[in-house]
Amino acid sequence: MLPKNGYQRKRNLFDPKSPQPFRLSRSRLENFLGCPRCFYLDRRLGVEPPGIPAFTLNSAVDALLKTEFDLYRRQKKPHPIMEQFGVKAIPFIHPQLDEWRENFKGVQFHHRETNLIVTGAVDDLWVDPSSGDVFVVDYKATSTEGRISLDQEYRQAYKRQMEIYQWLLRKNGLNVNAVGYFVYCNADKSKPLFSSKLEFSIEVIPYEGNDGWVEDAVLRAHRCLMGPRLPESAENCEYCQYRRLSFSMENPRSEASAQGELF
Ligand code: SF4
Repeated sequence: MLPKNGYQRKRNLFDPKSPQPFRLSRSRLENFLGCPRCFYLDRRLGVEPPGIPAFTLNSAVDALLKTEFDLYRRQKKPHPIMEQFGVKAIPFIHPQLDEWRENFKGVQFHHRETNLIVTGAVDDLWVDPSSGDVFVVDYKATSTEGRISLDQEYRQAYKRQMEIYQWLLRKNGLNVNAVGYFVYCNADKSKPLFSSKLEFSIEVIPYEGNDGWVEDAVLRAHRCLMGPRLPESAENCEYCQYRRLSFSMENPRSEASAQGELF
């Protein structure tokens, strides 16, 4: 969100000369992968992209699922949905689990080579009691009549999200299985009446992750932050096209506008 006073943000900026570790969240790393230029504008220069409204209904589903899985965690039993989908695991018990699920803490790893503290908050972890393997679990809420598939373009970010969590947890010494699970809650909008309730069907979708790219992404994000100038924009970003067009309309005589090199 842009600062209300219209100035650049002065806090939480990456300073190439600072010896202090710098926190880099999973979502900021994802921003870097989407566009190094906006990432640099935000983390290095303090110009944040406009905020988006919170997905409060999704958050409500997340909170209720957490409460429900915690019930089975205390009982050391699998949730019926895990049995229904053939997942041989129970909710994981670990003294740091609450911290790992907390948004502004999360799982943390100090990457010494870059002095970045990479963070990410997981929704849940399950464990296979016989092997000790831990599974990363991510809750998702949607409403679709079609089949839920992880192959859609925008869901590639969900896979990267899972793989960053797997990387972070392995760096914290956990024996993380390559398979993670998405618990997908799909709201039924075909009911004749709302009657003050949404009804969901729940699906557990396994995904085999590969975190082999994460370390390289952290190194590249760091190189980007250390650089003296703005990197290139991502191609085909509709916001940049909007910015370019707006600028050229508002400044028809500007030299940059004439050259078509505005940002
Ligand atoms: S292409 Fe432009 S607007 Fe889009 S993310 Fe990058 S710098 Fe931001």
